[in-house]
Amino acid sequence: MTNQAFEFLEYAADAVVVGAGHAGCEAALALARTGINTALLTLNLDSIAFLPCNPSIGGTAKGHLVREIDALGGQMGIVADDTALQIRMLNVGKGAAVQSLRAQSDKNAYHAEMKRVLENTKNLRIIQAEASEILVKDGKCTGVKTTYGGVITCKAVILCTGVYLNGETITGQVVTKSGPNGFAPANHLTQSLIDIGFQVRRFKTGTPARLDGRTIDYSKCEVQHGDTDIYPFSFMHDHAPENKMPCYLTYTNLDTHAVILENLDRSPLYNGTIESAGPRYCPSIETKVVRFKDKERHQIFLEPEGADTLEVYVQGMSTSMPHDIQRKMYASVAGLENADIMRYAYAIEYDCIDTLDVLPTLEFKKVEGVYTAGQINGTSGYEEAAAQGLMAGINASLKLRGLPPFTLRRDEAYIGVLIDDLVTKGTDEPYRMMTSRAEHRICLRQDNADFRLTEKGKEFGLVTEERYLRYLARKEKYEELLRSLQTRVPQKDATPFLERYGYSAPSGSVSYADMLKRSIPLKDIMAEYGVFGEYAKDVLETAEISVKYEGYLKQGVELIEKAKRLENKLLPDDIDYHSIAGLRLEAREKLDRIRPFNLGQAGRISGVNPADISVLMVYLATRE
Ligand SMILES: Cc1cc2nc3c(=O)[nH]c(=O)nc-3n(C[C@H](O)[C@H](O)[C@H](O)COP(=O)(O)OP(=O)(O)OC[C@H]3O[C@@H](n4cnc5c(N)ncnc54)[C@H](O)[C@@H]3O)c2cc1C
Repeated sequence: MTNQAFEFLEYAADAVVVGAGHAGCEAALALARTGINTALLTLNLDSIAFLPCNPSIGGTAKGHLVREIDALGGQMGIVADDTALQIRMLNVGKGAAVQSLRAQSDKNAYHAEMKRVLENTKNLRIIQAEASEILVKDGKCTGVKTTYGGVITCKAVILCTGVYLNGETITGQVVTKSGPNGFAPANHLTQSLIDIGFQVRRFKTGTPARLDGRTIDYSKCEVQHGDTDIYPFSFMHDHAPENKMPCYLTYTNLDTHAVILENLDRSPLYNGTIESAGPRYCPSIETKVVRFKDKERHQIFLEPEGADTLEVYVQGMSTSMPHDIQRKMYASVAGLENADIMRYAYAIEYDCIDTLDVLPTLEFKKVEGVYTAGQINGTSGYEEAAAQGLMAGINASLKLRGLPPFTLRRDEAYIGVLIDDLVTKGTDEPYRMMTSRAEHRICLRQDNADFRLTEKGKEFGLVTEERYLRYLARKEKYEELLRSLQTRVPQKDATPFLERYGYSAPSGSVSYADMLKRSIPLKDIMAEYGVFGEYAKDVLETAEISVKYEGYLKQGVELIEKAKRLENKLLPDDIDYHSIAGLRLEAREKLDRIRPFNLGQAGRISGVNPADISVLMVYLATRE
């Protein structure tokens, strides 16, 4: 159907970003803000930064990604703060490494604000059109063609097509060619990706129904308000967003489970209509009921979709059951007995690529100048997508400016863990970031993201002067506080305070840091001795953690130094793995396919075991 015959020059750009979802927005801003003449394509301007699933940004490990995106000069954290309905700190009962911010977002406001930011960005041209072909000459990207015959010439293209490539929504027996929420799918680009060498596979994800809030009986649910005494996502903001709307907690019950189990044959997931891989860690309610048969109830969060709408998102109850069954399922839940469904739940299948063909810069190995980011890389989540979009945008910009690439190691950022997992291990199901994936998580906390990353963002020109000065000021305050904490309190003044916390009298003077190591909260020490200046919430938190977990952090740094030794053992890119005696066949094939940059990365490839690494070390020693 595309206008192959008729071609015209739509625009001459340096870079094109295909897709204005969470990946595309960050990629386009990173390019345009570093002076690259950029064109941003989307199927529909009304889907810019659209939140097709949960109306929230952040959550466990995802909050870390948002803070890291912000520290590098990205946009998601700022928009999440500015359009939050409420914000909470998750896992406060657990260690500092897993505490994560999560904001309930106003969907329409999030879209409108990101669109406003994009529209007011220099060097950025936004076009509503469907990309149908990647133009390649001599192994290099030369442009993008649209279904209307328009050609946008460029030297770099970043593919951020999300869940739209050959998108199909599934509810019961009804399968419809569609993107999320009825937006049009992209039905022409996949063939072009296959033609230029990508391996394409199909993934699936699902979303719950949206209910009319007026018809929910909240008196049967537990209200959940936002937190007040916490810090915002963005280091550019001094205060956490105001909490405007609550969420509510309710539960499924045995009746809900019975409706599902009695109708499992009508579930596309269980009758073979859906065969593609879905997100293990965001399972549908059918899967939860089948997988956890012993559980009598599952948590359901009722989340407002926005201040200007009555729609309520039913977190924890995504499904692709037929509409009549959905009505029974939702009506069986306490508080939802008379709830009206405004949008029915559905599953969506879409094409995505195999990231073992992509470099750590997210550039495609087979065609220079082609990058991929977001759901197209097999991940699931706004935050994961935004992080990849930012990195792909930064690297395309650096390459176009003739500057060296920028990658993050696993010990530097969750973003480093995310991308290394994708390009080294690959994924056979939608990949969701989790703290357990980050072996160095004690050092990769959300509170210190700027200390880890803002200097780097400054180097490649994405961190503004204002952001850099704020970072320097925060660092100075933090170091000032650390110095103050070393101040020693005379024995006579420390004793009564320590005894109040059940400690015996000290043998001499005690520093405030020693008190912290005795797990006495910093705010209590500050209240007691009142000798400290004014400090922002996140400066206090970072200082308290740095002192309290000093031992663990030291161990963490030792682990990082140990890992670095293997990361620094580079693997020349001309190695013929098939000729190295002693390497097992599986290892030879995997090493040849992925072509790792160093021994550390080689060791993380599934199918390459420690014995293979020893063989490689001996081989490298003979080459020196
Ligand atoms: C039904 C559903 C359920 C989900 N459930 C979850 C969940 O439970 N947990 C979770 O973490 N995440 C979930 N997500 C995923 C989340 O929405 C995505 O991870 C996130 O939106 C991906 O961002 P992205 O930028 O990669 O792509 P998207 O946000 O999908 O944006 C893609 C963009 O590309 C554009 N586009 C695509 N093809 C073309 C083309 N050929 N030409 C021009 N423009 C094009 C589109 O117009 C759109 O602007 C769900 C998504 C959907 C749709």
